[in-house]
Amino acid sequence: MPDALIALENVRFAYPGGEQALKGVSLRIEAGEHVALVGPNGAGKSTLLLALVGFVPAEGTIRVGRVELSRATLRDIRRKIGLVFQDPDDQLFMPELAEDVAFGPAQMGLGPEEVAARTASALEAVGLAGLGRRSPHSLSGGEKRAASLATVLSMRPEVLALDEPTAGLDPRSRRRFVEVLRQVGRTWIIATHDL
Ligand code: ADP
Repeated sequence: MPDALIALENVRFAYPGGEQALKGVSLRIEAGEHVALVGPNGAGKSTLLLALVGFVPAEGTIRVGRVELSRATLRDIRRKIGLVFQDPDDQLFMPELAEDVAFGPAQMGLGPEEVAARTASALEAVGLAGLGRRSPHSLSGGEKRAASLATVLSMRPEVLALDEPTAGLDPRSRRRFVEVLRQVGRTWIIATHDL
């Protein structure tokens, strides 16, 4: 069998002093698949997404293409998989929105022109062109969600991992968010209650 884009084998993780949140998860995701992680609160969806990019140190094997997740490959994996956190306030921390969107590409070592171009196109893609100078804290709930997505889109990851991206959005913002996702295409993994 050829390498899957993402392959998990027997992934386990327990929070310190507590819950066994992941109890031997194995799955394969091929390039171009749109995968929904569906389950009740506490099922481990968020934990699985965090494990995928090494934010929680799970046991077992996580592979992205031929690269196995380890301390040495963490940076590489996080370039390939862009995680949009459940709470936009975890994603937005700079004084201005455009700085948040530029942060990832700048960390990747791209030059200032490329960073500026990616920032502009990510803001445009999520419908926030023109709001780059705003403080993230001044954005509405829907705009914050869109802004979080932009901070990840600007890194042009192969895979978008989204944790409850439509939670708290009104029907219109939700439709808009789904529309944006469709346009940015590629491979998605979405933890959601929003079937
Ligand atoms: P879901 O995203 O499906 O709602 P989570 O991954 O957030 O589920 O949680 C899985 C389990 O891990 C739950 O039992 C939850 O209480 C527990 N858990 C989540 N985060 C933490 C944490 N930071 N510390 C301890 N336990 C946690």
